[in-house]
Amino acid sequence: MEQLQLLWQFQELEQKIFRQEQELQNLASVSEYQHKKQELAVFQKELKQKEEKLNTEKKELRRKELELQTVSTSLREMDKKLYSGEIRNVKELESLEKKVQSSKKEKSELEDEILYLMENLENDGREISQLKKQEEVKDEGLQQLKLKARGDIKKIQGELQLLNQQRDELMQNIDKQLLKKYRELSKRLQGGRCVSLVKEGFCGICNVSLPSSFRARLLTPGQQVFCENCGSLLVRGD
Ligand SMILES: [Zn+2]
Repeated sequence: MEQLQLLWQFQELEQKIFRQEQELQNLASVSEYQHKKQELAVFQKELKQKEEKLNTEKKELRRKELELQTVSTSLREMDKKLYSGEIRNVKELESLEKKVQSSKKEKSELEDEILYLMENLENDGREISQLKKQEEVKDEGLQQLKLKARGDIKKIQGELQLLNQQRDELMQNIDKQLLKKYRELSKRLQGGRCVSLVKEGFCGICNVSLPSSFRARLLTPGQQVFCENCGSLLVRGD
């Protein structure tokens, strides 16, 4: 095969490699995995906050239960004292009765609060166990996505490895000066195609119809012909 045709093949391989590399950067499964991972992190953070709230409520409940015990004990003692007949002083009796009344009120309030907290705890506990089940499902889905993303990455990496091998092999067979020329041209066209395969008299890159005089020049070995329109190096394609 002619050097220029090899060069065109080399260019096409490089373009393919470039596209695969772009694809590798923009894999849908990878971005989906990252998105879901973030979502799960937010979910877990909220779950943790709820668990912390539950623990605070549990502590609060314990504290109130202890308080109730203390109030109940003191109330029993005051009741005993009140009806024992040991206090004769009217003012003292009145003051004790007042204390008993306020303790009873406190006890009743505490009992209400404890009931309320217990209901809350039950509801929150139920909610948390449901959320934990959801967390498990989400995590399982995420692991599957991770496997899919990894598989997709490996597949493209494998293809890229193969393409790079082909590219390196092809490069061995192309004249160094010609490759240098290709690099210069490619740079000028900002990494785009700069070697054009001519078919039926049309430039393969800009599609302009080439003058018939070009045809003869393309057939001359060693001759470098450039498209007057897009500046690409022309290669005979048919
Ligand atoms: Zn052209």
